[in-house]
Amino acid sequence: MPEVDPIPLSQLTTLRTGGTPARMIDAHTYDELVDAMREVWAEDPDWLVLGGGSNLFVGDDAFEGTVVRVLTEGIERMPASRPGFVRLKVQAGHDWDHLVAYAVEQGLAGIEGMSGIPGTVGAAPVQNIGAYGQEIVQTLVEVELIDERTGEVSVVPAAQLGLGFRTSVLKAHYGSVAQRSGVILSVTLELPEVGPMARPVAGAQLRTSLRLQPDEAVTLAWIRRRILEIRASKGMVLDADDPDTYSAGSFFQNAIVSEEFARTLPPECPRWPVTPDLDPVLVIPLERFDGYVPPTATVERDVKVSSAWLIEQSGFRKGFKLPRSRAGLSTKHALALTNRGGATARELAELARYIRGRVQSEFGLVLQPEPVLLGVEL
Ligand SMILES: Cc1cc2nc3c(=O)[nH]c(=O)nc-3n(C[C@H](O)[C@H](O)[C@H](O)COP(=O)(O)OP(=O)(O)OC[C@H]3O[C@@H](n4cnc5c(N)ncnc54)[C@H](O)[C@@H]3O)c2cc1C
Repeated sequence: MPEVDPIPLSQLTTLRTGGTPARMIDAHTYDELVDAMREVWAEDPDWLVLGGGSNLFVGDDAFEGTVVRVLTEGIERMPASRPGFVRLKVQAGHDWDHLVAYAVEQGLAGIEGMSGIPGTVGAAPVQNIGAYGQEIVQTLVEVELIDERTGEVSVVPAAQLGLGFRTSVLKAHYGSVAQRSGVILSVTLELPEVGPMARPVAGAQLRTSLRLQPDEAVTLAWIRRRILEIRASKGMVLDADDPDTYSAGSFFQNAIVSEEFARTLPPECPRWPVTPDLDPVLVIPLERFDGYVPPTATVERDVKVSSAWLIEQSGFRKGFKLPRSRAGLSTKHALALTNRGGATARELAELARYIRGRVQSEFGLVLQPEPVLLGVEL
């Protein structure tokens, strides 16, 4: 197995925290990744699979287990069963934004709105990445997964991954472990082939973010360029020269609350309806049907509210820092906690707790962290 000298996790995560792990394996090929996982699971109860480290908040103490770096690459283009669509099977370690650039070049639509998201393709389904109204769930067909329980590789359809708002069965949320433990080896997307021509943009949220009218036609390349500009202006594209990008992106998730709770928030708080699940269907067996159809139950819809707004309204301006701390809010985006240079995980956690506490006492809502936490408590 390609075991390497362990590198401190502060050099491999975008929040730049974490000590040197006990052991590190670099998996450059599909077979190396499969072998590495089987061997590690047989020997070491503590393991971490690492992509780009852009959705991880790692504690200061050295990780006692094995870190497996996923460094596989490659895109395979395949026909889809639907006319006008193409499938891309992509190795887990492939850079997500390189995949988006490739899709745009090939005239394949559906992921251009997610240009500039850091990290690997294999980690993308773990939190169902999304931006500007596009999410990977909209184009994901299946993943190849090696299961920790059995060590077997199987093809898992997207529908079995529990993909929701920044979540899946594979994501370990703060305070709970993942429902399913395994490693994604490859990801297959199905994308419509629209070519290089300008056309109206599907998706109201994407159009609004791009300030486009419903009938305004633009190319995929134009959308990608514009999204990269918008993201860069918010510190949301990695840039070694810009400390506002030494983050895990949004540190807190936009909060999903009931409509009833949302009504208690100030009307200026930005909010968006969460696409409702279909209303439950009531099935009455024919032998029990007596002609009476009960009224449909009222379904309370959930609402997504802007956590950045709640943070700012709780008294935190962009760039906020606690005294003598090297952790601070991004100067461009109130939702990104950033490492201003040499900050420890303890300093970042202290800032996160302070913000969460103030938002809770102002608005009665407990913000949930978006990154996966390893060896650190909030
Ligand atoms: C500046 C910035 C902007 C961001 N913007 C966005 C955004 O707009 N939208 C968004 O959704 N996210 C965003 N993120 C978060 C992050 O980029 C994504 O979650 C990304 O998918 C993480 O990929 P990664 O390879 O870096 O994962 P890592 O941080 O390496 O890992 C994250 C988790 O996934 C697990 N994991 C990694 N690879 C695999 C695999 N192959 N199989 C199973 N589990 C795996 C890890 O063990 C860990 O638990 C942003 C982050 C930053 C720093």
